[in-house]
Amino acid sequence: WDMFVLAFVERLFRPTFRKDDFVLGKKLGEGAFGVVYRVSLAKKPGAKEGDLVLKKATEYGAVEIWMNERVRRACASSCADFVYGFLESSSKKGGDEYWLIWKYEGEATLSDLMLSKDFPYNVETMILGEVQYLPKGLERENKIIQTIVRQLLFALDGLHSTGIVHRDIKPQNVIFSEGSRTFKIIDLGAAADLRVGINYIPKEFLLDPRYAAPEQYIMSTQTPSAPSAPVATALSPVLWQLNLPDRFDIYSAGLIFMQMAFPSLRSDSALIQFNRQLKRCDYDLTAWRNTVEPRASPDLRKGFELLDLDGGRGWELLTSMVRYKARQRTSAKGALAHPYFDREGLLALSFMQ
Ligand code: ADP
Ligand code: MG
Repeated sequence: WDMFVLAFVERLFRPTFRKDDFVLGKKLGEGAFGVVYRVSLAKKPGAKEGDLVLKKATEYGAVEIWMNERVRRACASSCADFVYGFLESSSKKGGDEYWLIWKYEGEATLSDLMLSKDFPYNVETMILGEVQYLPKGLERENKIIQTIVRQLLFALDGLHSTGIVHRDIKPQNVIFSEGSRTFKIIDLGAAADLRVGINYIPKEFLLDPRYAAPEQYIMSTQTPSAPSAPVATALSPVLWQLNLPDRFDIYSAGLIFMQMAFPSLRSDSALIQFNRQLKRCDYDLTAWRNTVEPRASPDLRKGFELLDLDGGRGWELLTSMVRYKARQRTSAKGALAHPYFDREGLLALSFMQ
């Protein structure tokens, strides 16, 4: 009940918006379930040009609003700042639309940044400014990648501790927040809230195959579809323990880590090819390494070298994230405690959160 009262009071004192309050700007994205625009508040003195983001969503918008409301109360720093969500009844056929409003966090997703020739140095500049503290090279790249992986795991830990599994973790859904100079997660459109059994996305929902863990569905086949709210509240901690659905996101985060370490795996086609190779190795990353390393390109070799720094801590962490069995994968909390993130030495890096 506390939660409901709190939510109600919060809603009372937050500004509410209607369709006509917004002026549409540039289209930022278009998926199967919605269109995203940069928008401004109309006729509001002081409102900056395009400082908000609007998603016009189909029926799944209701879940996405629920997830964002929950994130704002429980783990706000994990995701883009959510402002407001409402149902906009349209007169046209095609029915209702959900409108979701966030703060505009910045122009670059991790995907945009990773596609730059200058990655990961372009990210270093965004996080630290123009501070130069090490010569360019593997050590420095490793430190930057480490920071990004840590921020991603930190955001995931927040979501998972709240009982939310994202299920669509990929570089396109990780945004650099210019305000906080950190990476945040966006797009809770496919997320599941297991503690209260909210999971509208049907089983057949196509998860992004490029980043999906081999189990595909976060609940085992023995688990019936998500039960209704009161039942789920009592049962879901048990289900969580049994199925470890959070490990689905960990696998995806591991693939992102992998792409950051290996420039040659950053393109879609290379990732798809890698997934095929890994499957052929029964999802054993070490076996994959043994097959590709002997005839590795300099690019690929560089990735292994980076992950082998400090006695192979990066490689060790990566292999604990990308494993076939969810049960054998590390949790976000476990990963954050991994020696890869030990920060002895390199004083300047203490600024890198
Ligand atoms: P979908 O993938 O369902 O189309 P997303 O929520 O991922 O919708 O948003 C699409 C794109 O819009 C993102 O990849 C990002 O470029 C941009 N975007 C979304 N939310 C924000 C935000 N809060 N600030 C800045 N850009 C955003
Ligand atoms: Mg998206």
